[in-house]
Amino acid sequence: MAHPIVSLAKRRGFYWPAFEIYQGVGGLYDLGPLGARLQQELVDLWRSTYVLPEGFLEVDTPTLGPEVLFRASGHLGEFADLLVCCRSCQEPFRADHLLEGVHPNPEALPAPEVDGLLVQHKVRCPRCGASSFDPARPFNLMFQSNFGPIPGRFAYLRPETAQGIFANFPALYRLHRKRLPFGVAQVGRAYRNEISPRQGLLRLREFGQMEVEYFHGPTPADKDHPRFGEIAADLTSLVPAPAAGTPAAPVAVTFQQAVDRHIVAHRLIAYHLARVQQFLLRAGIPAERLRFRQHEADEMAHYALDCWDAEVLLEAGWVEVVGIADRGCFDLEQHQKASGISMEAERILAEPREEEVTEVIPNFATLGPSFKGKAKAIGEALRSLDHAVLAGPITLTLEGGEEVVIRSDHFSLSTRKERRTVEPFLPHVVEPSFGLSRILYCVLETCYQVEVSPSESDAEQGTSEPEDGEGSAAGGYVRLRLPPVIAPTKVGVFPLMDRDGLTELALQAERRAIAEGLSAFVDTSQSIGRRYARADEVGVPFCITIDYQTKEDGTVTLRHRDTRTQERHSIVDALLAVAAAVRKPVSFGRGT
Ligand code: AMP
Repeated sequence: MAHPIVSLAKRRGFYWPAFEIYQGVGGLYDLGPLGARLQQELVDLWRSTYVLPEGFLEVDTPTLGPEVLFRASGHLGEFADLLVCCRSCQEPFRADHLLEGVHPNPEALPAPEVDGLLVQHKVRCPRCGASSFDPARPFNLMFQSNFGPIPGRFAYLRPETAQGIFANFPALYRLHRKRLPFGVAQVGRAYRNEISPRQGLLRLREFGQMEVEYFHGPTPADKDHPRFGEIAADLTSLVPAPAAGTPAAPVAVTFQQAVDRHIVAHRLIAYHLARVQQFLLRAGIPAERLRFRQHEADEMAHYALDCWDAEVLLEAGWVEVVGIADRGCFDLEQHQKASGISMEAERILAEPREEEVTEVIPNFATLGPSFKGKAKAIGEALRSLDHAVLAGPITLTLEGGEEVVIRSDHFSLSTRKERRTVEPFLPHVVEPSFGLSRILYCVLETCYQVEVSPSESDAEQGTSEPEDGEGSAAGGYVRLRLPPVIAPTKVGVFPLMDRDGLTELALQAERRAIAEGLSAFVDTSQSIGRRYARADEVGVPFCITIDYQTKEDGTVTLRHRDTRTQERHSIVDALLAVAAAVRKPVSFGRGT
């Protein structure tokens, strides 16, 4: 059965299935007014607590990419799930989903083993009950389209935001004044043609991602972070990949202990795990429902050397929300090979040394007759190529997409001795990849609380328990304990009565709040108790009530959602208290 937050989310405008007027499409959801604002608050929190303090560069690259990009990244070849179709009703399934409970790690199984296990365990089609399936086959998760009208110029929607960053490495390295390490961040949409998504916001065909590619050197000394000390004492829960045949078991350690006991390979990964943890705690995920699980070798993505998933415990079980992968130099090496453009960084040598350097010299005597007006541009492109890629046949893609074939008489190679003071190398990458849509859902579910009786302080105010559908769930009172920093609406302003000038005062207070950057709304309908209940249900952390005393001395009551306490302040002081709570997160580290 779906968690009650799902119906609340739809009723109150957090999210709902997209295109419902046409019966919807699996894996596509709309964010409503509250959901869109919550998502923006999560992005802002991520930016202000991770991207900016770490000095990451933020970019925004296209969601569409050419075939050559995704062939190089390995996504065209490797980014697939095993598909199994029922022979009787033709319903498609992810093979690993059919084998849950049959095998401990069904995601890692090859197709022939899947076919064998389906027969051996007489697995039945969840839709029609038949127990005969077509052979399992890989299904690539990329959405394909075409650039322009010429057939065969394939366009792909990106399955992760990362490739736009890797393809820009030379420019970003230059913009960072050729210094390593540095991180590059990107927020945007990613697209995966999931076989049969049925898990709401947890498995979408289009979803939000917030990714960081942290470029650093390849030596053991580079696998560190100068600010490791800031997080060393934070406590965490880790589930290391178990040795073959043994069950996975969680360990509670500090990040210092995790490195000292070789649970986490190095301080650089540990540092990013800690920053991911801080972000998730600030976003409202309770510490006891958060852990990091290391991937087993056969579970790892094609690009990863090591991977830890931040997982959140939902009613349905543990769910991955952030993947922290050590991608080594896989991506830069692949793009260097495919593009012929150097993706290398440089390090200053302790001792200068003499080396042979080979340069590509364009031969304009042959380029001119072959390519006419384009010869100059092609010559320049050849000059920037690594000579190693010219060993075989080569096709260059010009600006505008035209492809030209280069012959061996279009260039020559010249070799000379050069004194080197710097050494080139391919940077390595640690990638924390945040699933924005999943985090949004996890925050909603874990902040959802049902209380059996209405709050005492509200009752003292003469308020009553709300009717069903307004802050109440079957058997209780609903409070969405979103941290103030991400709550979509920061403050509700309620005139005690919708008359005698109280509503005008409330509208003035609302305008002042909005002018200070605090999202606010005025609610005049029904009793104050019902208004509190409606606000509590969508996580409004503060409510200001305007009453007759406000007319006399300008004071209001400020009600705190979580403690249900009420204080009397001037309007300005009440708004200052809201602003302070919204902007300054309380202590979030998991200190020892
Ligand atoms: P991955 O590149 O598979 O490690 O994905 C990075 C993050 O994106 C994951 O931790 C998830 O939070 C999120 N994610 C991956 N696939 C989906 C999906 N189909 N729907 C929603 N979020 C996803």
